[in-house]
Amino acid sequence: MAGSDWGDIYRELGAKPIINAIGSVTMLGGSSPIPEVKEAMERADSAYLPLMELEEKAGQAIADMVDVPAAYITAGAGSALTLATAALMAGDDDDKIQQLPDTSGMKNEILIQTRQRYWYDRCLELAGAKLVEYGSDERTTRADLEAAIGPNTAAVHYYAVEQDIDPNALPLEDTIEIAHARGVPVTVDAAGQIYPLDLFGKYIRMGADFQCVAAKYLGATQSVGLALGTEDMIHKLSLQSFVGYEGRRIRGVGRPQKVDRQEMVGAVAAVRHWMTMNHEERLASVEARCQTLLGILKGTEDKGLKSVMLDNVIGHQPFGLELSVDQGVAGMSAQQVVDKLKEGDPPIWTRVREGEENIVIHMFGLAEGEEVIVGERIRDLFI
Ligand SMILES: *Cc1c(COP(=O)(O)O)cnc(C)c1O
Repeated sequence: MAGSDWGDIYRELGAKPIINAIGSVTMLGGSSPIPEVKEAMERADSAYLPLMELEEKAGQAIADMVDVPAAYITAGAGSALTLATAALMAGDDDDKIQQLPDTSGMKNEILIQTRQRYWYDRCLELAGAKLVEYGSDERTTRADLEAAIGPNTAAVHYYAVEQDIDPNALPLEDTIEIAHARGVPVTVDAAGQIYPLDLFGKYIRMGADFQCVAAKYLGATQSVGLALGTEDMIHKLSLQSFVGYEGRRIRGVGRPQKVDRQEMVGAVAAVRHWMTMNHEERLASVEARCQTLLGILKGTEDKGLKSVMLDNVIGHQPFGLELSVDQGVAGMSAQQVVDKLKEGDPPIWTRVREGEENIVIHMFGLAEGEEVIVGERIRDLFI
């Protein structure tokens, strides 16, 4: 809570600012652009330019920095997924590009492992594609994928989560090998796979045709994302975008998913910062703030609250605290703790994720020092 004007711009509208102890979630705003991004965005204001050219140059700058053949800036990783499916179905055929989301006469099936269905797979359907599951709830085998590929298969999708590898899913290596042997492209959702740095673009270097990255995790505005891929894939993807719609007068499905020129240069600045910053320092700072929070919560254990520091450093949200509530001792459940924190002033947002029992706190959305407020407010509920 930096300064007495905290959240004023929202209060002036009658809206209530909150302290975000959940992390980078879209519903709460996703990210706060870092100074490097804000400065780049401000410098972009002074001039106009054709966005075909800016997309190309900004995409090349990003591709060079993360060591992949090509990149394109989109309206979030979600839009990158949608544009990728459009590109895989319509390719560079202008008639087909204008026909979507009607997929008649096109390969329109995106294969996805039953075990890998996830919240954002809906974005794969927006351009008209159909998701087709393969494998079972228990596991996915090579034979499952081999049997699932058919004449209408447009691509095989893979959801990469390196901080929590699923031993029963079909690995990406096998997915690429089997799909490519049949001439089928592979798409990867790697939205948060940005650290260690060799993860950034790794799936393209492994042979996948496309991967998305969410720029909200990199310190850009949450409204931008990156499509990374082969030159052919990214070229076809660009034809489906709002830039292609206006610049080529070819009306693709990507038209509603606009990106500002300011956001585009902001995304370049965010990638540059991420690729060159001192990550040891970043991790040490987050770890220290988690320790501060842990220290404040010391003494609540015999009151029914157990706090454990998480040690993950992969991805965009290192460390964090997992809080488990013993309802018998505390007289309230974890969800009731979440509700009480939300009712306080200012409201503190935390969550128990669907299918889980504990509260997980991350530093990502907390301004410097807010971890102290969060710690004290939680401690006060128990002591
Ligand atoms: C956040 C996220 C997305 C969506 O990204 P946006 O940039 O918000 O559109 C897609 N996939 C995963 C795994 C994500 O975490």
